[in-house]
Amino acid sequence: MVFGKVYDALGWLGRQCLPLRCLVCSNPGKDGLDLCAACHAELPWNDHACPLCALPLPSGEPVGACGACLREPPRQVGAAATFLYAPPIDRLVLRFKFHQDLAAGRLLAQLMLQAVPAFATDPLLPMPLHGRRLRERGYDQARELARPLARELGLPLWSGLCRSRATVAQSTLDADARRQNLRGAFAVQATPPPRLTLVDDVMTTGATLDAAVRALRRSGLQEATLWVCARAP
Ligand SMILES: [Zn+2]
Ligand SMILES: [Zn+2]
Repeated sequence: MVFGKVYDALGWLGRQCLPLRCLVCSNPGKDGLDLCAACHAELPWNDHACPLCALPLPSGEPVGACGACLREPPRQVGAAATFLYAPPIDRLVLRFKFHQDLAAGRLLAQLMLQAVPAFATDPLLPMPLHGRRLRERGYDQARELARPLARELGLPLWSGLCRSRATVAQSTLDADARRQNLRGAFAVQATPPPRLTLVDDVMTTGATLDAAVRALRRSGLQEATLWVCARAP
């Protein structure tokens, strides 16, 4: 994708020419990141979570499947969310997603690489945006996150899944309407590899990711794992 190449080149040039600057507080960045040491120390890592759905577990509770996953095991075999959807990650995600702030996206990907889940050895599948949303926004945030992850980890990107129609924002709907909204939302255009890791920016109920996994499983995918930047409980 030409845009991606131009962005990579501009990002590379920018990194050579501009001093690192904390995207949260504007102090000098550190360790190759646009983030200062103080803000890095305050990040809301999600490192005590259900290994199946990435929901944070109460502190003191041993790491294991959460109650919801025990009652109804999810379709994916593993899930990791690098962060809780909390300050300053929530603001960085919003800037990246809705305000064309690709530097925020680059930082989020770099931070995801500081806590790579053990299962991340399979091809990565960025959650696709519908074509209309992509045209409106100009870039696809899941792909912008997944590209540097794939490059750094030496994993292929797989892109055989697409949105067959635009869906209403899930956050505006109740549970039944969400399921209805997602019916037929994805189309699988190529035979998937046996295992895939789906990559997205934020996981809330997980219904959209689940709908994607369901479509992929129908087309022959054996195992799916999820790797997202932030988990909104
Ligand atoms: Zn800072
Ligand atoms: Zn769970």
